[in-house]
Amino acid sequence: MTSPFDTIVAPITGAARAAVAIVRLSGPEAWDIGRKLFTSLPEDAGPLRLYYGRFAHGDDGYLALFEASRSYTGEAAAECSIHGSPASVQGLIELAIEAGARFAEPGEFTQRAFLNGRIDLTQAEAVRDTIEAQTMAQLRAANRQREGALFREVSSVREELISVLAAVEATVDFSEEIGDLDRSSTADRIVSIQTRLSSLNESARAGRILRGGLRVALLGRPNAGKSSLLNALLGSERAIVTATPGTTRDFVEESIELEGFPIVLIDTAGLRESTEESEVAGIERARSIARTCDLVLYLYDLSGGYAESDRLEVFALDRPVWIVGTKLDLAPSVVTGLRVSSRDGTGLSELRRAIRQFAGEEPSVAINARHQAPITAALDEVGLAVDTLLHDRPVDLASVSLRGAISALGEVTGETADPDMISRIFHDFCIGK
Ligand code: GDP
Repeated sequence: MTSPFDTIVAPITGAARAAVAIVRLSGPEAWDIGRKLFTSLPEDAGPLRLYYGRFAHGDDGYLALFEASRSYTGEAAAECSIHGSPASVQGLIELAIEAGARFAEPGEFTQRAFLNGRIDLTQAEAVRDTIEAQTMAQLRAANRQREGALFREVSSVREELISVLAAVEATVDFSEEIGDLDRSSTADRIVSIQTRLSSLNESARAGRILRGGLRVALLGRPNAGKSSLLNALLGSERAIVTATPGTTRDFVEESIELEGFPIVLIDTAGLRESTEESEVAGIERARSIARTCDLVLYLYDLSGGYAESDRLEVFALDRPVWIVGTKLDLAPSVVTGLRVSSRDGTGLSELRRAIRQFAGEEPSVAINARHQAPITAALDEVGLAVDTLLHDRPVDLASVSLRGAISALGEVTGETADPDMISRIFHDFCIGK
């Protein structure tokens, strides 16, 4: 069992050897342990200063002390900046543990920041997104969420729900003083909340694309020009290096970045009639990739023409599909449709622009997969509440739904619903006036 009263220690820089590493201590004993590790710390040392000197394990570097109110974790902390060798990091951490610290669990610094009320859950998740960002658009989105954009939107929807709930409950509890609930105007207020929740819910697509990339499958008969197009698109764009496990694969997946948006291009096995077992498996795999991607580029050779088999394949797809003519240099007379030449580069920038547009606008907030379930639940509950009010069902039922929605949204931010709701019931209303 870990205790929030432990003082924890861990390197906050990467595990690889580097010029510099930072070891963080956080918790009630952080300063005391810091003093034991840093032999040259002056007697009156305090926060907002950087001290240079020698550490007890022999390395030299800097020590900084943080007050709870200004630290990352929301509790007293000390950060030791030393040389980034495994020996120096390990040596310092061993001394810290001897002096009473415990090695931190994964994510424990950020968890403490959350538990100490420094950040909410969406901001904690954004810390992870920030660290994982590979493109500028990913970084911008992570920064906005870390600065609280999603937290503010969810909290503001939640507060609006609390205020509607207060109005509803007041008419239940004090109907003699304030009269019956105005159902239709209350329903209107909830519908506008519903709209905001819907747009949050719709941001899931943008969030998924931003975090995981727009998945674009290249499909077509053998020799349609799939690999050449993949390479042409990769060649002119910054490729995102991804380590994908697995050695034998019948498809190739590569990521590029278009205006900061990650785009995952998947080259698949050529589609044709076949009886050869491994080829059939590859073709089935190609079709199943096409079923789960965001966009299919169906390629055909302009110099060979679009065949009946192409028509059948395209017809069977239930994803957005663009038919792209390839090898334009061999058939320059074709003037309509999306068409490219991987050989001379014609049409590539138009194709890139279209794909970028298909990925969508950069969203101001974008929920992730975890947020989606509670936000969907909240949407269902507010839908029920509107239904209840407009169909003359008991007002109590609307309260139940609103409470459900409020608590679902609390799951997104990590808050608990009840205490502030109760105070708000009397805050928003001046009973008796
Ligand atoms: P895949 O089987 O669909 O991946 O097709 P490939 O990309 O391997 O291309 C099949 C053949 O067409 C190769 O010989 C390529 O060099 C050729 N090819 C591909 N794209 C072009 C192009 O834009 N112009 C010309 N002239 N040949 C191309």
